[in-house]
Amino acid sequence: MTDLAPPADVAIVGAGPAGSTAAAFLAADGKRVALLDKATFPRDKRCGDAWCAPALALLAELGVLAELEERGAVQWVRSGGLVSPSGRSFVSPDQGAREGAPPVAAIKRLVADEALVRAAERRGATLHEGAQVIAARLAGDTWTLRCKDGRRFRARMLLCADGAPSRLARSLGVVSTPANGVASRQYIKGGTHRFTSDGVLLYPDYVLPGYVAFFRHANGDIDLGCYALPGGRVPASGLKELLRTKVASDPFVREVLGDAAEPLERPGMAPLRLGGEARTYGERLLVVGDAAGHTDPLTGEGIHTAMVAAKHAARVVSAAFATGDFSARGLAAYQRAWMRAFGRDFLISAAAARAIDRFPALLDTAVLAAQHHGVRFMDRFGAAMTGVESKATFLAPKMALPLAAALLRLGLAGGGLAYADGPGAAAGRGDSFARHALAARA
Ligand SMILES: Cc1cc2nc3c(=O)[nH]c(=O)nc-3n(C[C@H](O)[C@H](O)[C@H](O)COP(=O)(O)OP(=O)(O)OC[C@H]3O[C@@H](n4cnc5c(N)ncnc54)[C@H](O)[C@@H]3O)c2cc1C
Repeated sequence: MTDLAPPADVAIVGAGPAGSTAAAFLAADGKRVALLDKATFPRDKRCGDAWCAPALALLAELGVLAELEERGAVQWVRSGGLVSPSGRSFVSPDQGAREGAPPVAAIKRLVADEALVRAAERRGATLHEGAQVIAARLAGDTWTLRCKDGRRFRARMLLCADGAPSRLARSLGVVSTPANGVASRQYIKGGTHRFTSDGVLLYPDYVLPGYVAFFRHANGDIDLGCYALPGGRVPASGLKELLRTKVASDPFVREVLGDAAEPLERPGMAPLRLGGEARTYGERLLVVGDAAGHTDPLTGEGIHTAMVAAKHAARVVSAAFATGDFSARGLAAYQRAWMRAFGRDFLISAAAARAIDRFPALLDTAVLAAQHHGVRFMDRFGAAMTGVESKATFLAPKMALPLAAALLRLGLAGGGLAYADGPGAAAGRGDSFARHALAARA
């Protein structure tokens, strides 16, 4: 599909989880798909590498999950939990696969994203690597895309899936704002740290409503991430300094890393675009994944929502080819579809993030409820946090009642919140963290 070739049906700019998923479904539907990425695969993407249930279901549907498991690239999250702003913790021990536990897995993006790209190619999409799109123009019924290296591509329909900066959709005037958050990743070499759990989120006061996260990979490496969310205590521009100061001296982080931890890289940062854009469609145009702000404003997680949106995008594009209606009005069905799937939930997430920022003790109540009710409560909490259930379930009796009881207990126990005291500083604070997240030491 260069200059002289006939236009493809669909050009997709960006071959991350959003672009590759859309490409796979559209190619399987018989569409001629050109999947363009500026990178050459395998390519890395800074990420916490936590793949939530809806993403895992789509990886399975595309035949990628079994392949990744066979290659030993998947670490199922079977133990883990939270540390609250006061330093209270609940970290479950590994109890194997359990019914009711929301599936989450750590898979390195370097590996998983390439597997997804290959799955799209197997279904018939044509991948063009090193194709950095710098301009797009619609004339009549055809888009012409221009790449930095001079290549040109033409297509009837364009999907912008070029990640959080959303440069293409912004250049076309569909998206108008810059990215609104930032997060970091640093891999720590397996065997040099003391973390024996699968996934733990720390909510220290200094980064609320964002958090610090540890996820353990199948090869023992850990992914240490830090998320600065919009409107929170640390502006996007302050994350680098925060990592150097507060995160580096955080007592829980120091406990996990120990003195011998060997970083495999310097902490690297990448933008987040959270909450969903107000408009993600235009004439012969859709915007998908991070480019469309498809990242949860409470968790900073966006792989699964990118993939879910991509499947909706593919369905809407296929319908446009069936009816011949490529108008913005017709393609607005896509916006309605992802809003129904997860966009409305983002509104609850944003409200929850604001509430946590104002009342950090809400996270203490969640940990207290988990300490009281055990993994069953944690499973429900996890299901809402990872897109298995709506965040509205926090208000349902099965969640709201344990949380209300914990709030009461917290009130009776009095304040004295002291994250800085560190793990195990007082009975009930940090004790289960020390026992389970650092079991090898115990
Ligand atoms: C540090 C960090 C930690 C995170 N942790 C998690 C987590 O644990 N779990 C989770 O679910 N989400 C997490 N996220 C969010 C997650 O990374 C994104 O939501 C996800 O990558 C979205 O996929 P995407 O396909 O939309 O975009 P991307 O994965 O960013 O893919 C965009 C692609 O577009 C390509 N591209 C860009 N510009 C051009 C161009 N001009 N021409 C051609 N190609 C182009 C890029 O090379 C890239 O391959 C994290 C984000 C960050 C920054």
